[in-house]
Amino acid sequence: MEKRKLKLMGLLLGLLCVVVLEGLAQDGMSKRVLIIGIDGCRPDALLAAKTPNMDALWKDGAYTFKARTDEISSSGPAWSAMLTGVWHQKHNVLNNEYEDPDLEHYPHFFHRARQEKPELKTYSIATWGPIHKILQEGDATYTDSKLTDARVAKNVSSILKSKEVDVMFVQLDQVDGAGHKHDYSVDSPKYLEAIEKADRQVGRMVSALKKRPSIEKENWLIILSADHGGSNYGHGKNIPEHTTVFFIASGTNAKKGEITKEVGVVDVAVTAMYHLGIPAKESWDLDGSVSGL
Ligand SMILES: [Zn+2]
Repeated sequence: MEKRKLKLMGLLLGLLCVVVLEGLAQDGMSKRVLIIGIDGCRPDALLAAKTPNMDALWKDGAYTFKARTDEISSSGPAWSAMLTGVWHQKHNVLNNEYEDPDLEHYPHFFHRARQEKPELKTYSIATWGPIHKILQEGDATYTDSKLTDARVAKNVSSILKSKEVDVMFVQLDQVDGAGHKHDYSVDSPKYLEAIEKADRQVGRMVSALKKRPSIEKENWLIILSADHGGSNYGHGKNIPEHTTVFFIASGTNAKKGEITKEVGVVDVAVTAMYHLGIPAKESWDLDGSVSGL
């Protein structure tokens, strides 16, 4: 009788250990980040267009449609702010020429992430190639630029389905093209159409991510944002129509609902690194903070 009791207790203890270890394993899910940036997409137009894929992300995540981008609301300065975590006064990309970026003090966040965790697999795939000019040797495992958003989405999807990826940055460019051609406005059907097209590419990439063979063991944070808005067929000024953007963070670790604090595109790099287990260091002198987690 006593022996049987002991045996039973041993069994129960064993079971308890398994349960505890299982819990730890779940806690230790591999953290990953997918950032999708939609060039020139105004938040009000995103809300006006039919975008079921992006809607699913913000409705199930943390979001704000009042985030702000760099005062110089051009692609080079704004994407650099998003990817370095500092404004143009620090990263020093002042236009689309990328003449003299201060990569020594304010590198791309891939650079910082790989300094802290050299094993990370970092991917950057864009329709607008100059975005990669702030990447230094060794920052990215893989970079690519394609002529169209559809080709970018196709490449991203096939990589997400089959490769080891820790952090992926994707830029889609054609919404901005439509804004320059047809105006950045909720009253411009062609602009809204371009946003709807971008939404289908987002859907394609997110569904590829969900098909990853190891998805059950991964904890993905998806961040969606834009480099700037626009008005009157252009952008670049320090006015709300140009500097107001959306910021969406979706995933298990995102705090659902509207983000009420001030959010800037500089938060993208900081939030991504935080999710990867790399909290910002004081010495990095970053302007962004963690948003949506
Ligand atoms: Zn742009």
